[in-house]
Amino acid sequence: MAAPRRILLAALMLLLAAGAFAQKPETLNRDEIPGEYKWNLSDIYEDWETWEADKAEIESLMEQLKTFKGRLAEGPDVLADMYLVSEKLGMLAERWASYVWLQAVVDQKNQELKAKQQEMQILFARFSQAMAWVDPEILNTIPEKTMQAWLKENDVLGEREFKIMELYRQQEHVLDEDGEYLLSLSSQLRGNPSNTYSSLSTADVEFPEVVLANGDTVKATHGTYAASKETYRNQEDRKKVFKAHFSTFDDFENTYASILDGMLQSNWYMTQAREYESSAQMHLDDNNIPVEVMANMIETAKAGVEPLRRFNQIRKQVLGLERYRYFDMYIPLVEIEWPFYYDNLKPNILSSLEPFGGDYVGKAKRAFEEGWFDVYEAEGKRSGAFSSGVYGVHPYMMLNHADTMNDAFTLAHELGHTMHTVLSDETQPYHSKQYSIFVAEIASTMGEHFFLDYLLETTDDPDKRIALLEHAINTIHGTFYRQLMFADFEYKMHKAVQNGQPITAQTLQQMYLESLNAFFGDSLDDQDWYRNTWARIPHFQRPFYVYQYATSIAASSLIYDRITNEQKYSENERKQALDDYLTLLSSGGDDYPMEQCRKAGVDFTTPVPGEAMVARMTELVDKLEAELEKKGMLGG
Ligand SMILES: [Zn+2]
Repeated sequence: MAAPRRILLAALMLLLAAGAFAQKPETLNRDEIPGEYKWNLSDIYEDWETWEADKAEIESLMEQLKTFKGRLAEGPDVLADMYLVSEKLGMLAERWASYVWLQAVVDQKNQELKAKQQEMQILFARFSQAMAWVDPEILNTIPEKTMQAWLKENDVLGEREFKIMELYRQQEHVLDEDGEYLLSLSSQLRGNPSNTYSSLSTADVEFPEVVLANGDTVKATHGTYAASKETYRNQEDRKKVFKAHFSTFDDFENTYASILDGMLQSNWYMTQAREYESSAQMHLDDNNIPVEVMANMIETAKAGVEPLRRFNQIRKQVLGLERYRYFDMYIPLVEIEWPFYYDNLKPNILSSLEPFGGDYVGKAKRAFEEGWFDVYEAEGKRSGAFSSGVYGVHPYMMLNHADTMNDAFTLAHELGHTMHTVLSDETQPYHSKQYSIFVAEIASTMGEHFFLDYLLETTDDPDKRIALLEHAINTIHGTFYRQLMFADFEYKMHKAVQNGQPITAQTLQQMYLESLNAFFGDSLDDQDWYRNTWARIPHFQRPFYVYQYATSIAASSLIYDRITNEQKYSENERKQALDDYLTLLSSGGDDYPMEQCRKAGVDFTTPVPGEAMVARMTELVDKLEAELEKKGMLGG
């Protein structure tokens, strides 16, 4: 990976850009931000008139779709025609909605847009009604055997084999009409725990105030707690905010436990009704993922905690702390001024993508040059960042770039999503373009791996290198270890309900502390302080979701190693790994995610992907240790 030519080129680009790059604008007035930093939505529609014209087309397609109702079993040609119409409708509706939605997220107070959004919601309600009958009618009127014959007979259907047979796969868990009706009656009821959770944890909660060492008074909200971990250099201040923030969860621990119990019971009810073996199996079955994949990943992470614990021990020593707690995990080891200006990032990010080849870089370049980004914060613009595809056009990325290192990695991350979407959209027809969440974070985290590599190659300043390594390690901690620790706890509590064990604040605390200790061991002091962390995590209301962060980043670590590790792999093997990876990015949702990954050399039935992640963590912690030693920050 050490390519002097690349470094030279980058240095040159840096020099050329030196006069030109701009820091983030002073203004928050969107109108005053130059057009080159705002996305160009005229690629979707030229103006509102053309948008309006498509609305008529969408309505006419909805009318057409109705004419198929009750007729799908007539024969393969009728079914094929229905698919063609419904896909045309879906594609157009998506495009039509994107035009409004993308304008609304950057201009949330605009009343005209609000009205258009309402128009959109009304049309979408009709759209989902127009589509709702299709799958049930197929399943109820066309037996699987008949369908298999039709797939051979009719090319349009044959091309959609994966999608169509996927409908039948979960059929054994669908009840008869009466049963489904009864289940549907319970849906509001089952949503109640989640609604109660958000009422209690957001609307009703009153966070206490604390007085900091400098005399300032702050309210210990979610935002303050998050910021305190990263910016309060005084440990006592961090502790105060932490204690105050968590006191609200401690005070209501029994209520939170009871809400969680409601969610668990509701899942167990559905699990039994649909005759799954476990709640985990029911949730993972959507993507056809065996429970063992998640269970293995948890065990692999537990077996690979050495670098995580060593990271904590190093930090404890460098920060000179007597006791080390969770709220000490994020305060930077070094304080540096290192702005990452957007204009400057453009050449750097593109250079970091060079290993993917000229075609890939060329496409990424278009993102910068053709208005795919909306870069800066402005009044009325949503916070955060995302990449959102518009099939037949190109993806758009929203950032709130404020020149920090985090922002720079966010850009690399979102661009990874965008490239995945670009390659899938140009390769796949509309019906198979959508990739699943299970694979979604592979390209984004891959973009981060390569950007980190590039920065480490081109950065000599030890403080900057320490900051980079810390950032990368925190990402792995946050997406791999932490999420699998949550998954471990989640898995246990669902199992407890299945085994008829009562769920109380005490049992949840015990299970949570067990998971916490399995990951952090003695590298974290006063673990009992974290007994109610489960109450703070909204994700548990969405069962078996978090483990997917870990699988994605583990997959990208393994693929990354295969593409870049010159000691382990021959040039041919590395080239093959790259080709397989690009094929994965081009495959949209054309197969089960496990299969897509297997074709790219990532076999989730083995511990290998998880082990690749642990190896990457080990490598980064080693590097960090070496840098700190060089600076004499590690003492003896
Ligand atoms: Zn992402």
